[in-house]
Amino acid sequence: SHQIVLASRPKGAPVPENFRLEAVAMPAPGAGEVLIRNRFLSVDPYMRGRMNDAKSYVPPFQIGQPLEGGAVGEVVTANDPSLKPGDWVLHNAGWREWALLPAAGAQKIDAAIVPPSAYLGVLGMPGLTAWAGLNKVGLAQPGETVFVSGAAGAVGSLVGQLAKVKGCTAIGSAGGPDKVAWLTDELGFDGAFDYRTEDPVQALGRLAPKGIDVYFENVGGPQFDAALINMKLHGRVAVCGMIAQYNATEPPEGSRAIMLVVPKRINIRGFIVVDYWQHLPEFLAEVAPLVATGKIKFRETVYEGIENTPDAFLALFKGANTGKMVVKL
Ligand code: NDP
Repeated sequence: SHQIVLASRPKGAPVPENFRLEAVAMPAPGAGEVLIRNRFLSVDPYMRGRMNDAKSYVPPFQIGQPLEGGAVGEVVTANDPSLKPGDWVLHNAGWREWALLPAAGAQKIDAAIVPPSAYLGVLGMPGLTAWAGLNKVGLAQPGETVFVSGAAGAVGSLVGQLAKVKGCTAIGSAGGPDKVAWLTDELGFDGAFDYRTEDPVQALGRLAPKGIDVYFENVGGPQFDAALINMKLHGRVAVCGMIAQYNATEPPEGSRAIMLVVPKRINIRGFIVVDYWQHLPEFLAEVAPLVATGKIKFRETVYEGIENTPDAFLALFKGANTGKMVVKL
């Protein structure tokens, strides 16, 4: 069995040397435990924060210890009546080929309606993030204009589609023409732009001439200011993440447009998905049927093999993924 451990903490952008592949003995399940053959591992931007030795809403990864993260796999041995061999489960012991857990740490998933990997993306943590940020934080209403950055990623691609289902106008930004075309041609976004080649202030003026009601912030930097500049009175900003800053070694320069929150009465509110976990059943009841029938589409970028998990993670910061980044074992 193999696992990836944290070899050292990154300074700035993480590098392959921060990770190490280790061979370990096959874990043997005790009473009340389950042994799981992991099939898909999740790599997510928030894991960058856990590589630092800093207090945050999740504790840091420890040097020499395996990293953690979402994973789905098949139960091989179950020393607990709640699960049986062959069950598909979702759990948090990722970055390893085999997971040994107390049965309560593994949640059974229905792999018949959607592929199991979807529980790491559109029907999992990123999906709930999109749903909660749009509905509970951004308070999007039918008829409003929603702008989401990082729109071709796991969270962003669902934000725009949920906005459309709600009767909103959906505008997205992403890096590169292929991603932009995916948003407008396949996902039904009303407009999208490539933030690498078009000035975001002008792009938003072009795509949302009457202004934005809700900005779903995934990236930070110049797009935050561009959203404030193009925001309507009483606009709302749901701050989900700012990936453009995760590898910074110095605090970034401040916003140049922040003063606009006063005359425009803008409400800026950050959130963490764990605070909305009680809404998971409501989210699944609403979104799983839309995914199962194809009304909501999702894509995955798939790396293969435990040894390529660090590369998949590093590639998030280069925009190598369209939709959810996963590793197939
Ligand atoms: P994505 O699938 O969106 O992958 C990350 C994407 O970020 C890349 O594909 C890339 O897309 C974009 N990106 C990377 N570097 C930059 C940069 N310097 N400037 C602009 N864009 C960049 O990841 P997720 O959907 O999982 O996460 C999206 C955001 O949501 C992140 O900020 C994440 O931290 C946050 N998040 C927050 C949660 C919460 O509870 N608050 C929970 C889950 C996620 P491109 O090619 O378009 O540049």
